[in-house]
Amino acid sequence: MALLNVLPYDKAFYEEHLRDFLPSTFIDCHTHIWLDAQNHFCEDSANRSCAWPNMVAKDNSVEDLNETNRLLFPDNKVISVLYGQPMVTIDLKKNNAYVAQSAEKYNFPALYISHPSQSAESVERAVLANPCFKGLKVYLQFAPSYIPGNEIRIYDFLPKEHLALADKHGWVVQIHIARPRRLADPVNYVQLLEIEENYPNIKLIVAHLGRAYSNEDLGDALDYLKNSQRTIWDFTANTNQFVMEKVLDLYGPDRFIYGTDFPIFRMKARRTVENGFYINEIPAGSLGDVSSDPHMREIPSPEADKITFFIYEEILSCKNACNTLGLSKEDVQKIFYQNSADIFGI
Ligand SMILES: [Zn+2]
Repeated sequence: MALLNVLPYDKAFYEEHLRDFLPSTFIDCHTHIWLDAQNHFCEDSANRSCAWPNMVAKDNSVEDLNETNRLLFPDNKVISVLYGQPMVTIDLKKNNAYVAQSAEKYNFPALYISHPSQSAESVERAVLANPCFKGLKVYLQFAPSYIPGNEIRIYDFLPKEHLALADKHGWVVQIHIARPRRLADPVNYVQLLEIEENYPNIKLIVAHLGRAYSNEDLGDALDYLKNSQRTIWDFTANTNQFVMEKVLDLYGPDRFIYGTDFPIFRMKARRTVENGFYINEIPAGSLGDVSSDPHMREIPSPEADKITFFIYEEILSCKNACNTLGLSKEDVQKIFYQNSADIFGI
């Protein structure tokens, strides 16, 4: 069975909107690979993230990732930046080893998933042991379990010792911020600027545009961050054209990069926002029982037939934002290739 069901509607969508926009080779700065065998039972599996992303795939081998790109972007060559699956239910040691081995096999760059309880020495040893690792992927789920999910701050999952280490080596650090108000939460944006100022050699990437999926999620953040000099923004898993325009307009195309969050964004979906709350509309029955997740809404046929891949929607939003701002072909080349090539040393 094919990994993805690419229908004539999807092919036409790619032809019409994406093929001429995308560079022939591009870099995906944000992918997750892991094997089911790297899952382990964990007492501490209280989930502090949304439920729906976990429903897309039980695992994602590097071969599945490559196949996803081959099916979705038949005319392009894609270089993926690999990392593991940052879940408390994953054996991080095995998963990081698999990422390193896969990166070596396909000549892809990678990030090492660090755990806040690790000593700086242990993180340093692990990253330096494999030249494919360009830095750290950190995640809110690894914050100590006594901290309520809504109260997690960046330093709870990215300790200052790890920041100092990343600064010393000039590593990439990719952050997925926590807290219900997302980027609009002053705790997040104050700490982001603090990290940029205190650790100037880090290549700091804010994942998902700070999880600003609705216009409201921006709050006052960009005003506070208007003098930020280096921080890079990945628009992975974000389809909000307005938010993209705001970030692009403020920092220009040099600090904006493409990513997919595969396997998640290989699902068929489109996003709508109601009262500041995002809702993923998916074809009815395509993902199992989603009734308990308020972010999900099933759309019946025939309307469902017009829902294409989530990643296509993300790229189209970026294209529309680039057009609105009058960006050039060279700017698009930076966003989809050159910026990440420089950041990850490709
Ligand atoms: Zn991700």
